[in-house]
Amino acid sequence: MPETELQQITVKTPGHQELVDITHQVQQAVAATGARSGMVYVYSPHTTAGLTIQENADPDVRLDVLAHLAWLVPNRPDFRHMEGNSDAHIKTAMMGASQAVPLDGGRMALGTWQAIYLCEFDGPRTRRVLVKVLG
Ligand code: ZN
Repeated sequence: MPETELQQITVKTPGHQELVDITHQVQQAVAATGARSGMVYVYSPHTTAGLTIQENADPDVRLDVLAHLAWLVPNRPDFRHMEGNSDAHIKTAMMGASQAVPLDGGRMALGTWQAIYLCEFDGPRTRRVLVKVLG
């Protein structure tokens, strides 16, 4: 299979810290490549926004994830980073910058209750997410 073009999607995050469901946009980007199988690689080129795969049914799960991350990583006054957003950098490191999902028959093989989320930790901003189908 030939290598597919790198796709880019744009996500406007309305809140300071939130999980934004980007599954539909990623699927559209995959469709634009024409690929039917392989591995969908999704990448966040940011240091204060990561990616995760999480439940898509009960929105309280996303709120609980954010609340627990806030408890784990308070924005401590003794952090050294001059921008004052070290909590956002640490949470992004915890989530990671990428996700990979198998592609089968042109559709991502996500579980019934799974969605791909951009994890915004220093918004609101306009974020870029890169999508590439491998193999
Ligand atoms: Zn910073």
